[in-house]
Amino acid sequence: MSDKKKIAVLPGDGIGPEIVGEALKVLELIGKKSGFEFDTSSGLIGGAAIDETGGPFPEETKELVLSSDAVLLGAVGGPKWESLDYAIRPERGLLGLRATLGTFANLRPAKIYDVLADASTLKKEIIQGIDIMVVRELTGGIYFGQPKGVETLADGSKKGVNTLVYTTHEIERIAKVAFEVARKRDKRVCSVDKANVLECTELWREVVTEVHKDYADVELSHMYVDNAAMQLIRNPKQFDVVVTTNMFGDILSDAASMLTGSIGMLPSASIGGKVGIYEPIHGSAPDIAGQGKANPIATIMSVAMMFKYAFGMDEAYDTIDNAIVRVLEKDHRTPDIRQDGCKVVGCEEMGRLILDEIEA
Ligand code: NAD
Repeated sequence: MSDKKKIAVLPGDGIGPEIVGEALKVLELIGKKSGFEFDTSSGLIGGAAIDETGGPFPEETKELVLSSDAVLLGAVGGPKWESLDYAIRPERGLLGLRATLGTFANLRPAKIYDVLADASTLKKEIIQGIDIMVVRELTGGIYFGQPKGVETLADGSKKGVNTLVYTTHEIERIAKVAFEVARKRDKRVCSVDKANVLECTELWREVVTEVHKDYADVELSHMYVDNAAMQLIRNPKQFDVVVTTNMFGDILSDAASMLTGSIGMLPSASIGGKVGIYEPIHGSAPDIAGQGKANPIATIMSVAMMFKYAFGMDEAYDTIDNAIVRVLEKDHRTPDIRQDGCKVVGCEEMGRLILDEIEA
């Protein structure tokens, strides 16, 4: 490969620096083995950025990500910044990053590793073999809609408002991503909405049905979000691709993560914009930050997704995925996926074991 790729690295807060550190080692090793040439530059986001610059998404970070080919992100947030005004909280940095890059499609795979089928809180026969891709709309909906905020009324009481908004264009483009993704999988899309109550998602259902006319080879079904939450736990194997709004996708993908054993296992890719963002789906886990206990697999798999979606290196994806399978088969576990008879290792040790398998 001749042109050197630029990767922006934003470790963030809490366990962010720990897990990103392990993921970077994997990035470097795969680069060395495959001849993939790249440069990394670190930037501040979230609470770390607030402490240094006063804001969660500084101008320098904005310039850095806009001039990169891919962004590797850890996680943001923590108790230290919870008393700040919403407009400058760490989580605002994430929303700013996504909006700046226009990454409207968030791909969240929930696939179970066979050896972890016993680590889930659900029965093995329910979850073994699940392979779901949640396609979450990421730059619209209730997290961005105006008006929003909390105002004090004349009588001194308060009113909180958030607004759910979607345009035809926003729904069309996320529906297309879902159908395209399904074409490379089991060719089934379940669109999740609340069309019986929310007019905005009635439009969602209408537009998804319209876009489907160009994808006759893919089966489309619709489901209300409350039923989808229930079906995910009752019979998750019925799902292939799930496409849904920003907030429903946020919630359902966390639920789907528990099917696979731990939120520490699930990566994501946010695509469709100027530059893709690759990050674990979990947060900054302040309860275990700095203790060396975090599971780095979600972040390492996010690097695998970067190779696949940003650089078309499907083989690198498989190399990383297979290395993780072998480490798990050799009964190494971080505390979040601890199982009887297995050796519990920390974040750095898990990273090293994965590197060893990639080397092998
Ligand atoms: P969380 O995902 O950080 O943690 C939930 C639970 O899962 C915790 O018990 C944590 O220890 C565990 N966990 C998460 N990742 C893990 C990993 N890699 N290995 C082992 N265990 C792991 O969610 P939360 O506690 O609700 O939020 C903590 C902070 O993170 C908040 O400030 C929240 O706003 C922020 N947050 C950020 C993002 C993001 O950066 N994308 C996403 C969600 C939450």
